[in-house]
Amino acid sequence: MSKEQRCLQYLDALGIRVWKLRKPPAVDRGETDPVAPVSTESESMPLDRDGTIARMDWTQLEETVVQCQACTLGETRTQTVFGTGSPRATLMVVGEAPGAEEDLKGEPFVGRAGHLLDQMLRAMGLDRQQVYIANVIKCRPPNNRNPHVQEIDACLPFLARQIELIQPELLLVLGGVAAHTMLETTEAVGRLRGRWHRWGPQGIPLLVTYHPAYLLRSPVQKGRAWEDLQRVVKELRTLG
Ligand code: URA
Repeated sequence: MSKEQRCLQYLDALGIRVWKLRKPPAVDRGETDPVAPVSTESESMPLDRDGTIARMDWTQLEETVVQCQACTLGETRTQTVFGTGSPRATLMVVGEAPGAEEDLKGEPFVGRAGHLLDQMLRAMGLDRQQVYIANVIKCRPPNNRNPHVQEIDACLPFLARQIELIQPELLLVLGGVAAHTMLETTEAVGRLRGRWHRWGPQGIPLLVTYHPAYLLRSPVQKGRAWEDLQRVVKELRTLG
């Protein structure tokens, strides 16, 4: 089976029956310009917590997340969910927070939404091992409620350091909570998606699309999500 046929098969599984190549949109990209090692959160976190996290290496970061009690989610989680995939990935996928299954397994996107994310990645010609998947929040909010601002503030330095260490070429951000956090806006996903943004001091190109959990509830939006994924594929191709 050709690559294209396989792709069409995955699209079919996603519920997308019509596949039309669209003219690529003008890319809205601003101009912007980056970041080194320390101790973990095990004993006590120094006053400049964010600065300390921003200097951690991968192992220190992982250990610090495992031991983190910076917000009350530390009391209710089963385990932390750091992230999964290749630490040298070109594409990094950012979700919101672990759900019940992720909390039990310690891995992001392993439930129903995760299954759909796998299909979306496969439709792009990718699998989980080729990308890096992480969440804004590393612990499950009870009853899958939206994370609180203080929880996001406490957790965001971990994601920021993950991105700085991985140095992905592209960021794919899933859903409103992650998009609003990364882009510091309250604009609806429907208005944020479909164009490139930039993130951080290095101005990493960032694309927002619908969260797979939302797509499970609103399959009619899958076509738009696929348009977004195609933009990412196109950009990945230009990066070689
Ligand atoms: N939803 C997310 O945003 N992240 C997960 O890891 C699982 C579901």
